[in-house]
Amino acid sequence: MTLDLTDDLTDDLTDHPAVAYRPPLRVVPHVPERDLPAATAAAAAFLTALGVPLDSPGMAASPARMARAWSEMLSPRAFDLTTFPNDDGYHELVLGRSLPVHSICEHHLLPFTGVAHVGYLPGDRILGLSKLARVVELFARRPQVQERLTQEVADWLHTHLAPRGVGVVIEAHHQCMSLRGVRTTEATTVTSAFHGALRDDAAARAELLGLVGGSRP
Ligand code: ZN
Repeated sequence: MTLDLTDDLTDDLTDHPAVAYRPPLRVVPHVPERDLPAATAAAAAFLTALGVPLDSPGMAASPARMARAWSEMLSPRAFDLTTFPNDDGYHELVLGRSLPVHSICEHHLLPFTGVAHVGYLPGDRILGLSKLARVVELFARRPQVQERLTQEVADWLHTHLAPRGVGVVIEAHHQCMSLRGVRTTEATTVTSAFHGALRDDAAARAELLGLVGGSRP
């Protein structure tokens, strides 16, 4: 089953008196203290060292903008991981398809962007649907490699939601491959990570991969 992520289950269920309420887990990412003036000075020094003039009206404030932009790209938002009892005994696959991925490769500090497909087989709890995208963001907004990002999303859901199975597939385009080096403009990189029944049961995993494959143009 594929669910539309614009349809957030959270509001409907919290208003429903028959559903036992459990306080959501507040996820507050650790974001280190930011020194924006120091980052601005460093950005100016970096650009100057590369021969980029900063004395035009258009570029005078660019080091400060660069510092703010990078600070934002490295800061995941806090969120509530809202889960609900699986009272209806829904045991089929829940899949969030084409969730946005915006990350930065830790080798070149260039963006890599794409989509994540995150599926799970519910156990005792189900998850507010918009939260799958927040979990991806939690691990994407930091210097990353795609393989580790994929594994961290799968591991985190495995730990915090305790489903019967988790599967994560990420397809991304790396600017460090398209803008420099081999300059492969069309290439995407696909990575996957599985836990539980989605790792051990070939039919369950094939169902997830079939639905993911159907999302491609
Ligand atoms: Zn890179």
